[in-house]
Amino acid sequence: MKRYGGIEAGGTKMVMAVADDKMNILCRESIATGAPDATLERMIAFFRGHPVDALGVASFGPLDLKKDSPTYGYITKTPKLDWVDYPLLPLLKAALDVPCELDTDVNAAALCEAKMGVAKGLKNCMYVTIGTGIGAGVYCEGNLVHGLMHPEWGHIPVAPRKDDTMPEGICPYHGGCLEGLASGPAIEKRWGKSAKELAPDHPAWQLEAHYLAQMCVTALMTVSPEKIILGGGVMGQRQLFPMIHKETMRLLGGYLACVKDTASLIVPPACYPDSGLVGALLLAKSALEEMG
Ligand code: ADP
Ligand code: ZN
Repeated sequence: MKRYGGIEAGGTKMVMAVADDKMNILCRESIATGAPDATLERMIAFFRGHPVDALGVASFGPLDLKKDSPTYGYITKTPKLDWVDYPLLPLLKAALDVPCELDTDVNAAALCEAKMGVAKGLKNCMYVTIGTGIGAGVYCEGNLVHGLMHPEWGHIPVAPRKDDTMPEGICPYHGGCLEGLASGPAIEKRWGKSAKELAPDHPAWQLEAHYLAQMCVTALMTVSPEKIILGGGVMGQRQLFPMIHKETMRLLGGYLACVKDTASLIVPPACYPDSGLVGALLLAKSALEEMG
């Protein structure tokens, strides 16, 4: 029986887990994300105590995922300044000496949902997190999309609604990109109240649904996902789903004849909040399989 290790690396916490062949989680631990070296030491200590045959890491980004790059496996230009140019995967691999695989947290979550969640059996899906930031992973024809770097859906341009009182947005790079207008902190800045505290019938949610529907339309017109899976803290507002379904249909303008029912197309994740962690464990499994 093989044992797989997984790490979901986030700006707030790091979650480590060990699973068996069937992806049953045997043990897990969560630690606060502190200074990089000290945090890494604690993650390594966890896997020294719970040895694994392979390790998968699902991390916040941006990441260098080009296997022939001298900085493969590094966190690159992240707004989490302590972690800029941090060799996350090389250090883990050097310490644990097992096959390792790294991907973005959202690509890993897309993989999890495609293999064992709400998109099981489908070859194309997309996992979007709407939380402190916005990001999306794309699973296309049975593979996670990397390419030039990896998808960065949080920063796609969206058109501000005419009556938005904060059309300038809050993204330090683009102002009113999707993340700048629709992330948790953007909602909080616009309405002067934490997103969690806004009532379900607050006008904030209709505006939020409008921006997320623009993102869904862009996704449908570009990567053609068979499921768009929306997770993250903000989607805890379950009333957003029917609003996004309706608004996406309206913005599509009848163009995609195959889209008859956005309610079965745009859905919550089945494995939340563990989609990223289980995705990391699946990456470990594929790292071992690749080694033959
Ligand atoms: P992170 O993105 O940091 O990994 P989350 O996905 O939990 O973590 O997102 C945190 C953001 O989501 C915060 O901006 C918070 O205000 C918002 N959020 C968390 N829970 C809710 C909720 N139930 N309703 C609305 N917004 C929420
Ligand atoms: Zn941006």
